[in-house]
Order: sequence, then structure tokens, then C-alpha cells
Amino acid sequence: MTVRVRFAPSPTGIFHVGGARSALQNWVFARQHGGQFVLRIEDTDASRNRPEWVEGIISALDWIGIKRGTYEGPYFQSAYAEAHAAAAEQLYQAGRAYYCDCTREDVALRAPAGSQVRGYDGYCRDRNLPKGEKTALRFRTPDEGETVVVDLVRGRPTFDNATIEDFVIARADGSAVFLLANVVDDIAMGITHVIRAEEHLPNTPKQQMLWEALGHTPPVWAHVPVVVNEKRQKLSKRRDKVALEAYRDEGYLPAAMRNYLMLLGWAPRGDREIVPWEVIETEFRLEDVNPSPAFFDEKKLRAFNGEYIRALSTEEFIEACAPWLTGEVGGVRVAPWQPEEYDPAAFAAVAELAQTRVSVLSEVVNLVDFLFLPDDRLSIDEAAWEKATKDGAGDLLADVADAFAALSTWDAETLKSTVESVGAARGLKLGKAQAPVRVAVTGRSVGLPLFESLAVLGRERTQSRLRAAIDRYRAATPVTH
Ligand code: GLU
Repeated sequence: MTVRVRFAPSPTGIFHVGGARSALQNWVFARQHGGQFVLRIEDTDASRNRPEWVEGIISALDWIGIKRGTYEGPYFQSAYAEAHAAAAEQLYQAGRAYYCDCTREDVALRAPAGSQVRGYDGYCRDRNLPKGEKTALRFRTPDEGETVVVDLVRGRPTFDNATIEDFVIARADGSAVFLLANVVDDIAMGITHVIRAEEHLPNTPKQQMLWEALGHTPPVWAHVPVVVNEKRQKLSKRRDKVALEAYRDEGYLPAAMRNYLMLLGWAPRGDREIVPWEVIETEFRLEDVNPSPAFFDEKKLRAFNGEYIRALSTEEFIEACAPWLTGEVGGVRVAPWQPEEYDPAAFAAVAELAQTRVSVLSEVVNLVDFLFLPDDRLSIDEAAWEKATKDGAGDLLADVADAFAALSTWDAETLKSTVESVGAARGLKLGKAQAPVRVAVTGRSVGLPLFESLAVLGRERTQSRLRAAIDRYRAATPVTH
């Protein structure tokens, strides 16, 4: 048997990290079995059928490592409406389904007082209603017995057939509902294993009944754990950061992201979590996935990403930063400087220092903006400025500027010893002495190592920022001598 799996997202406008996790698990499973991965867009809800959303799914898959052209599809569920309706008709003809004209209110009125039983009561089962304008088609579920689902993650979830209502498979207009369309497509596409989120487990006994009623052997299922936040709530689009695109645009590396996503409910052998993708492809087993909810820990992901960033060569890091520095991210330019203000050589000179200090690539922008922004557009963090210049520490700026002016060389070591001795003359340790210089020149209190930064920025720009800071300091500080 050739393994065929599918990833079947409904377009929602974002690519949910939980979906990315399921897609990767399907992908790995297919690769391990020499099987085929199929992409099917479940777009029967016309309001969700937007071409840009579909492109978003394809490009998100691409980013995470499931490349366009290496899988089958995309197929579009909406293209198979006739096959779905035909399957409904087949079930009706075979006596496995019947027409029903009950409204929800009818069903509610018939329920015995105080009854907790919800769902359809089978009222139309034997009424032999013909198809009408207001008739839905219901599947006749068995009254007895059990439906046993073979699930690689959960063992054998077993459902008592008596608890499964006669569910609707086609609406009054003849269109099939999701449950049926999904099964018909899986059958047509020869799907052997359905790997999907736990949320769908309640649908599974019904879908398995449909597979059998349509004359096919059901697939093997794997319901992978729901992804939750730190409060153990299911990740929600409204409350949590769930869009893969948001992580991409923040500067997570796809390799870090996919490694992390595969750890939701699973771990490689040994005491390690950061592992090459090949190890995951070799070791991952659905049978080893923990069925309990998986915590999506953004802090851990961030730490992971930092490690992945540090593992890049400097050249790779420079290249990975390009969208934030010179290009576009999510269709917009993020760098606050103009393209002509950017100097690749200056960035290359500090790249190694930046690489050890960022957890996500977008952080690089604030680390290096002082190199590219012209003086009049470099904003100064007011709180940092107040703190660094208080108690007369700002007086040192003029001394530093004078000492810098006298230097015959302009390198990090010389700059450091200069500030050190200027500070010492005023009884200030290096840390205190460099603080006002840092804010004056970079606008911030934290950043790259200061003296390397000044060396790259150059004498002229450093001095002009120091002069502006001295003026600013004097204007704000009453003269006492
Ligand atoms: N379209 C469904 C969803 O996005 C997937 C159903 C399935 O995987 O069977 O949740």
C-alpha cells in the first residue's frame, strides 16, 4: 500500500501554527513511508474562497519547508461539489440515508421534559419522505454496536453507536456538508492516513461510518494534540499569536520554527530538543506523540530561534537579515532608513556582534539603526538620556569629544581607553562613563558593544552626535560655574 496523506486546510486568512504542525507531521510521515503528501484546500465556504488566502497557505507551507511542486495539489474541494452530491444520492439509494423535514424547533419540542439528550431523535427515519424543498438528508446510523477508530496517537477510541445521532450529510439544496465532502475527497484522493488535529476526533466515528457505507476501508487515523497557551486554553486567533506569518515576519527562522513545531507533543531521543531536521525525519513516530494538549511556549520558541541564529555563519546571518534591512517583510518595508542610507559594509562590520544579541531577526533593526539614520532622524530615548546624564555625568561628553578630536587613530581599543581615562579623571568607572556617550550616539542605553559601534560609525558622525548632545545637555542644565 502506498501511503497517501493530505493536509486539508480551510482558508481563514492566516496560517495557524497548529495547522503548520499538522502539515509537518503529515509531511514527515509521507517521507518516512515513501508516500505522497496531498494539499487540498477545503474552500466550500464561498466567503472564505479568496485566491490570496490560498496563496497565503501555499507560501506559508513553502516557508516551513514544504515546497511548492514537491507535493500533489493543491486540489480545491469546491471543484468536487458534484461528486459530493452524488455520494449523498448513492447513500440515499442504498437506504443508508433518508430525507427529513424537521426543524430544530420541532426536535426541541419533542424532547422529553428535562432530557439531556441532544441531537436528532430519528423522527423521520421511517417516514419515507421524498426529497423536497425543505428536506435535509440524514445518515442512518446503526442503533447497536460500536465504532472503533484505529488511531496512531490515541490507540482505539471506541464510540457507542447508539450515542451517534442520524447526522445530516446534505442540505436541502442538495449540497453536501463538510463531514461528507471531506470523506468523499479523501476516498477519491486515495488517502490512507488522516493525520489531523484532535478537534476533529468527534467527527471521526461518523466519517468512518461514511467510508464504510460508501464501500471503502476507512483510513488509519491520527488525531494529534490540541495546541494550548500558558493558561491551557486552546490557541485562538483572537487572543493568541497564532499566525505563522506573524512569526515569519518577526524573524523566526523556518528551521527553528519547524523544529519547535515538531516538539509539540513529541521529543527526539536523548536529552536534546534542538536537532537537525534529518533527525526528526528519522525518529518521529506518531505512536510516540503524547495525546495530551501541547503547550505552545513562545518564550521557548524564542530561545530556540536565538540558538538557530547563532548557529548560522556570519554570511548566512547577513543574508537572513536582508528583508528587515533592505527589503520587505510581509509586503512592507520595515527599515526606518532610506535604501540609499544603508551601507552593507557597515552592517557586515557589526553583523557578528549583532548575531549574538538577537533572538529574532527583526531585532537587528534597532541594534543597527544608528549606523544608517542621519543625525536628524535618530531619535533619542528620553528616559535613557536623563538617566545617563544625571548627576553631572553629562559634563563628561565635552571631555570625550575633545579627547576624540585629538586621536590619531580611530579604532575600538583606542576609543575605549580614551573614554576610560576621561571617565577616570572624573572619578567614573567605564560603565558610567560610556553611558552618556552611548545614548548620545546610538539613541539608546543598550545595544551593540559601544566602541566597536563608534569605530564603524566613524569619527565624523560620532563627533557630530556628541556635539549635538553637548548642546542639548547644556541647554537643559543650568550653568553653575
Ligand atoms: N478543513 C479542516 C480544517 O481545516 C480539516 C479537516 C481534516 O483535516 O480532516 O480543520
